[in-house]
Amino acid sequence: MIDRQELELLADALETLERGSASLPAFAPSFDAAAVAGVMAEVAERMQDNYPYFHPQYAGQMLKPPHPVARIAYALSLWVNPNNHALDGSRASSPMEKECVARLGAMFGWDAPLGHLAGGGTMANLEALWVSGKLAPGKKVVASSMAHYTHGRISDVLQIPFAAVAVDDRGRMDTAALEEALAGGDVGTVVATIGTTGLGSVDPLHEILELRERYGFRVHADAAYGGYFTLATGIDDASRAAFDALPAVDSIVIDPHKHGLQPYGCGCVLFRDPAVGGLYKHDSPYTYFSSDELHLGEIALECSRPGAAAVALWATHRLLPPEPGGEFAAGLDACLRAARALWRALEGSTGFTPLLEPALDIVTYAANGPTSSAVSARAQRVFDEAARRELHLALIDLPTDFVRRHAPQIEADSGTTTCLRSVLMKPEQEDWVERITALLEASAA
Ligand SMILES: *Cc1c(COP(=O)(O)O)cnc(C)c1O
Repeated sequence: MIDRQELELLADALETLERGSASLPAFAPSFDAAAVAGVMAEVAERMQDNYPYFHPQYAGQMLKPPHPVARIAYALSLWVNPNNHALDGSRASSPMEKECVARLGAMFGWDAPLGHLAGGGTMANLEALWVSGKLAPGKKVVASSMAHYTHGRISDVLQIPFAAVAVDDRGRMDTAALEEALAGGDVGTVVATIGTTGLGSVDPLHEILELRERYGFRVHADAAYGGYFTLATGIDDASRAAFDALPAVDSIVIDPHKHGLQPYGCGCVLFRDPAVGGLYKHDSPYTYFSSDELHLGEIALECSRPGAAAVALWATHRLLPPEPGGEFAAGLDACLRAARALWRALEGSTGFTPLLEPALDIVTYAANGPTSSAVSARAQRVFDEAARRELHLALIDLPTDFVRRHAPQIEADSGTTTCLRSVLMKPEQEDWVERITALLEASAA
C-alpha cells in the first residue's frame, strides 16, 4: 500500500521549498515529537478500519486513489498552507489554480472560461445553479430522476423550484418527458448529467440542446463523475454525441477528486461566459489589497479554500496532461474496458443478471431470485459474503420497474429492488475482472 519512494520524494521537494526562505532569520516552531508519535500510533491504528479502497478488489463505491504526485504535492503545500481566497495568502497557488481551470476548460473546448476549484461537486453545482437562478429568476430547475440527489436539495437551499424528469431504459433523461416539462414555459435551467452517479448513464445532451433552440433555457452539465471521459476513445456513439455537445452548454461541473486522481476536496465549476463573474460582485474589507489581478475569492461563493488542492491538481496536470491520446486518457479507456468485460462476464453467469450495458465504468447487476424482494435480500447476502472473501462491492436501490426492463423474469413484489453495483475506476482493474467474477460467483453460490 505504501511505497517508501513517495516519502523520499516528499523530503527532497520540501528541501527545495525550504530554500525559498533561506534569507530569513532561523525560526522553527517546536513540538513534542514523542507525544506526537504516541498520538500518531493511535491514529494509524484507528485508520486500519477502512475498506482497501486502493486495491483492485475494492470494486464498490466511486472511490479512486489519488496519484502519488497529487499526494506528494498536496503534502508539500501543507508546509505553506496557502489559502486560495486572495492572492496575499496564495501567491503561488492561486495562479496555479487559474492554470488548472484553463486546462479543464480546454478539455471542453473553452479558451477562457470563468471558474475555480471548489470543495467538491456539490459546492460547484450549487454555484452553477445559483448563477442560473440569478439569470432566470422565478423559473424552475429540472434534472432527470437519476440526477445526483443534491440538485433537488441545492434548489431548495436557493429557493428555486425544482422538478425531476423521467428517464429512459438506459437511465438517461427522456427527452419526450423533458419536452412536456418545457411546454409549461416555466423552466429556466436544464441540468444534463454527463455520467449519473448510480448507473453511469449519459443524458442526451445533443438532443437537449436542440430543444434549447425551440424553448430557450440555460443548460448546466453536471459532469462531476463523467466529465473526464470526454478524453476516452471507447465511448459508445450516443454518449460520444453528448460529450461532443459539451462546448455549447452554459456551465460545467467536473470533480478532479472523482476521476482526476485528486484527494478529496477538489471539485470545479466552469462558466462559458466570463461575464457571469459580475454576479459575484462583493467587497471584502480585509483581503483584496496586494494585487489588481483577479483574486479567486472575488468569483467564488466560498471564502477560504485550500491552495493545496490546486497545487496537487497542477502537479498532476504537469505529469499527466488531461489530453486526448495521453497516458491519463488511456487510463480512462482501461476503466471502460474493465466495466464492459465484467458486464459481459455476468451475462454468462447463473448467479446474476447484469442490467444495462455500462456507458462508462459502472456495472449494476441483480442477484438472481424469483421476486424483487428475494433479489434484494440476495444482493445483501452477496455483498456480505463477497466482503468475507475480500471483494468489496456497493449496493443500489432502483425502481423495480426499471430493473424489470432489464431483468423481466423478476416478479415485482416491492417498489424498489436492491441491486449490486461496482465502479471499476482503477485502470488496473482491467486485469482483475476474471478474479472479481470468480469471487462474485463463489459469493453467490
Ligand atoms: C459525486 C457527484 C456529485 C456530488 O459531488 P461531491 O464531490 O460528492 O460533492 C454531483 N453530481 C454527480 C453526477 C456526482 O457524481
